[in-house]
Amino acid sequence: MRILVINCGSSSLKYQLIDLEKNKVEARGLADRVGLQLYESATLTHKVNDKVWKYEADMPNHYRAMEEVVKALLHPEMGVIKSLDEIDAVGHRVVHGGEKFTGSVLIDSDVEKAIEDCISLAPLHNPPNLTGIRAAKALLPNIPHVAVFDTAFHSTIPNYAYIYALPYEFYEKYGIRRYGFHGTSHYYVSRRAMEYLQKTFGIAPSESKIITCHLGNGCSITAVLGGRSIDTSMGFTPAEGLVMGTRCGDIDPAIIPFLMEKEDFSPKDIDEVLNKKSGLLGISGETNDMRDIEEAVAKGHKRAKLAFDIFCYRVKKYIGAYAAALGGLHAIVFTGGIGENGPMEREAICHGLEFLGVKINPAKNDETIRGKEADISEEDAPVRVLVVPTNEELVIAEETRRVVSSIK
Ligand code: AMP
Repeated sequence: MRILVINCGSSSLKYQLIDLEKNKVEARGLADRVGLQLYESATLTHKVNDKVWKYEADMPNHYRAMEEVVKALLHPEMGVIKSLDEIDAVGHRVVHGGEKFTGSVLIDSDVEKAIEDCISLAPLHNPPNLTGIRAAKALLPNIPHVAVFDTAFHSTIPNYAYIYALPYEFYEKYGIRRYGFHGTSHYYVSRRAMEYLQKTFGIAPSESKIITCHLGNGCSITAVLGGRSIDTSMGFTPAEGLVMGTRCGDIDPAIIPFLMEKEDFSPKDIDEVLNKKSGLLGISGETNDMRDIEEAVAKGHKRAKLAFDIFCYRVKKYIGAYAAALGGLHAIVFTGGIGENGPMEREAICHGLEFLGVKINPAKNDETIRGKEADISEEDAPVRVLVVPTNEELVIAEETRRVVSSIK
């Protein structure tokens, strides 16, 4: 089955055409600066195997972006299919499914309406997701379209972990609760870890206790018990929990009214501070990019070092908390741009967790190969520390196949 996976952001459209039987990504790409062509042209980057094409294209909206994607897929030179009939289904990443969607669903008009109803919960993400769905349905009207939600994997979190200690009526009135995000990534890497633990150590998947750390520009950490998410660090929005590139993660909530009063901030201003000006950027005053933080640390930049230390300490603290929530630990999994490529961060996070059974092998930690899974623990370590490159697109394609097969 050949699935087109679409991930639509406010000014971008990422895609992959995946042949699930051959286990092959046939083409992938990114339409960038969609609808932002005032100062710079929109571009399409299209990749097939090792070949890359990048060119400017007129993409004032997502419908036009989707048309360009389809053109590239059918193109005599860059293309990988001869007709759109060769695509069996489309899988869409949707950020917020609220409490309504606990799994992937076939998109019909009721589902579209329900995704629209979730816009107040994810005002930045769900509108472009919906636009992508509508553009793709207009161009590929005769095949099934499936929505795969970032929040769905966390729908198993118990109420004592998802209800905030606010007046209960705000949960009832506005749906204020922990939802969690990065669900497809946590699901994928925890599944890979469960397979490894079973094959190598005979640990039954239903008994497994795993902590997954998705550390990229956005960061979140999840406690996975027997394959089910039981707690996660992102909450009502993706601002809670770990320190991120530009988001603050956990802070004392009383800081918000304090700053609003002192700085005469509107709700929009404070939101901007918490989401766009905080995290690594806010602390270092220099950059939101961990590679630049590392470089600055090497040059003796004190606030970059502080940002690095706060970042790693916060992850460590959550690992301790989630080991307690799980009642033990078999594995810690690192994924995301930093988790997969940052030995310095992995070392700093794991340092001091020996009492839990965590023992990293420094050589294995340093020698991980980009894109490859690795166990970086000492041979005799009771807790395995794994590096697993995430693959959200594969999960979306597999989910799409599962949903489509179940309705046939
Ligand atoms: P993502 O959002 O998953 O693409 O991850 C982006 C983050 O990964 C940025 O902060 C990058 O600086 C970071 N990153 C990428 N490569 C490395 C690396 N080799 N070492 C440390 N951080 C990295």
